[in-house]
Amino acid sequence: MTPAPLSRFCIHTITTNPLALAVSCEAYRFAGAAGITVWREALEPQGVKESAKLLAGSGLKVISLCRGGFFPAATEADRQKALDDNRRAIDEAAAIGAPLVVLVCGAVPGIPLNDARNQIADGIAAVIPHAAGAGVKLGIEPLHPMYADNRSAVSTLGQANDLVEKLRSPQVGVAIDVYHVWWDDHLEREIDRSGRLNAIFSYHVCDWRTPTRDLLLDRGIMGEGCIPLRQIRSWVERAGFSGMIEVEIFSTELWKLDQVELVKRVKSAYEKFA
Ligand code: ZN
Repeated sequence: MTPAPLSRFCIHTITTNPLALAVSCEAYRFAGAAGITVWREALEPQGVKESAKLLAGSGLKVISLCRGGFFPAATEADRQKALDDNRRAIDEAAAIGAPLVVLVCGAVPGIPLNDARNQIADGIAAVIPHAAGAGVKLGIEPLHPMYADNRSAVSTLGQANDLVEKLRSPQVGVAIDVYHVWWDDHLEREIDRSGRLNAIFSYHVCDWRTPTRDLLLDRGIMGEGCIPLRQIRSWVERAGFSGMIEVEIFSTELWKLDQVELVKRVKSAYEKFA
């Protein structure tokens, strides 16, 4: 399989979390990246307007905004709050020129997962008109089942595809993150199904470390773990996806390093393994 080209190299700002957005942009550009996915935290220090200006002049294509979601809640009032926050995320995405908001759909301990998935479907349906009005798409990102308690009741690509089918909107698709789905024995056929639904909106890479030292903040650089990256990319491409290959690594260990050096390591791992 051919190496991933730099023209498809995108980095998530969370990968270099200690850096200000302006510095991240410079480091990514210097490493030859073509795209950037912006986490909302990275917008906060200088505000959305200033961030938009900075990104427009960065030479990087803005691929998506991370993240919206967290729809399920115990009360109607809290579900409404979540909808408001998602509408804000959509507005922020539009303001910075991001065509996509990635959704971490949410879960609440004590709410049965099926009920949570129904609330997620209702929540996404409620914000589709706002997204369509803003010209922003919504990507449902299934999360590894170890997060089914409080981050996502959508654990498999199959469940994400079910939601896409149920919602029947060109605004809604999936975000495939290898960290969350690599273990799934239905992955190949569900990627194929996403493709048939024209629903592969984004593709995230990193690696799975052994042992994993922290359930959230111990993602590995590509090549450091056991995820069959090239195989999964071949499935995604066979399903019709030719968009950015987005490096999304969050790791407290890696955040301790010189972040510009880290970006260089990420680039070389991208070329070797992604
Ligand atoms: Zn992701």
